Amino acid sequence: MIEREILESLAIDAVCACLYYDLQDTLEETPDKELLAIINRTEPCEVCGQIAAVGVLL
Ligand SMILES: [Zn+2]
Repeated sequence: MIEREILESLAIDAVCACLYYDLQDTLEETPDKELLAIINRTEPCEVCGQIAAVGVLL
């Protein structure tokens, strides 16, 4: 199991600019599963078209 702190930091790195502040606000209550989905997403963001910045597959 990946450390929660690492998940949070990877998700913050991976999230696109338009979701960044939302994620920061809700980071602590965002489930691990959702953080992983942000980190591992391969589809571009529906809003800005950006794909995950890190692209680390966990
Ligand atoms: Zn976006």
